Amino acid sequence: MITLRPNIAEMAGYVPGFQPDDVASYIKLNTNENPYPPSPQVIAAITREAGEGLRRYPDAASRLAREEAGRLYGFDPSWIIMANGSDEVLNNLIRAFAGEGDEVAYVHPSYSYYGTLAEIQGARVRTFELTDQFEPVGIPENYNCQLFFLTNPNAPLGFTYSQRYIAELAGRISGVLVVDEAYADFAEENSLDLVRSLDNVVVTRTFSKSYALAGMRLGMAIARPEVIAALNKIRDHYNLDRLAQAAAAAALKDQDYFLSCVGKIRETRAWFSAELEKLGYQVIPSSGNYVFATTPDRNGARVYQGLYERRILVRHFSDPRLSQGLRISIGTREEMEQTVQALREIGPS
Ligand code: PMP
Repeated sequence: MITLRPNIAEMAGYVPGFQPDDVASYIKLNTNENPYPPSPQVIAAITREAGEGLRRYPDAASRLAREEAGRLYGFDPSWIIMANGSDEVLNNLIRAFAGEGDEVAYVHPSYSYYGTLAEIQGARVRTFELTDQFEPVGIPENYNCQLFFLTNPNAPLGFTYSQRYIAELAGRISGVLVVDEAYADFAEENSLDLVRSLDNVVVTRTFSKSYALAGMRLGMAIARPEVIAALNKIRDHYNLDRLAQAAAAAALKDQDYFLSCVGKIRETRAWFSAELEKLGYQVIPSSGNYVFATTPDRNGARVYQGLYERRILVRHFSDPRLSQGLRISIGTREEMEQTVQALREIGPS
């Protein structure tokens, strides 16, 4: 007879976005992946590393990748931790700061995995709804919580909070404010300055979107050295393998390639958003590599189905706040032209 911890027995577990087996036969706009390949420098670095040296353990401190990130963002490497996907560092933040019964908060809708991680830990979860102007409602003036996760840009809606709002929120909570910047490379602003100026702000980043490395599993956190030191105690000591470390350093170094990819995606996002509006969709101005669009008949499921039948995968959420629309990742210009054509065929109702 096995006896699970009650919170594990009761929890549902996180369900990642659909990854079809015959992925090449779809236009895949459902998991916010990058439509472009990783930098050729990244492929070269991984290939160089994939040799006899693999018999040795990797650098437990991921030094080269951290130094590269430090140079790029203007931080000493003691302020940076590399992670096996940003999911790993979100998990370790919860393990570091939230014990059984402690409160962990986030905005709904945003990334529901924070809730799953808190449930594993046995922490209490509190979510805050958004007004139509995208302001979280009801956060207490002096809010006693161990961790607050703020996804900025918001996913799946794509809007951003102002840096003033984020600084104000950091001042209102007793615990740590984690600004999850998975999509910040597609936005105009980020909170790295707040990490420098406020002692309870942590920024997390991923290589899965803007660096086109979702398959490599790479992320990082930027925070005060005390926080980084705590996260270092918790993580697997060899959390990044040799290939991942080589990939991370090469990706951060090749900023020309990175900027050109991000630039194309932002350009396509603007074009696609305008096309959606011409078709009668309500589009939230997006700072991510996706747009959230309400369909003309407010029936996201119908349009999802129509796109699916044309082998275009997008994301539909059954959540009542989101079910009237779709989250559509930004692919190449050609993919988005085909998507617009498909939406024309599907029609407004
Ligand atoms: N945060 C947000 C807001 C995300 O959308 C995602 C990707 N689903 C992640 C974190 C996790 O990214 P990674 O691939 O680095 O684990």
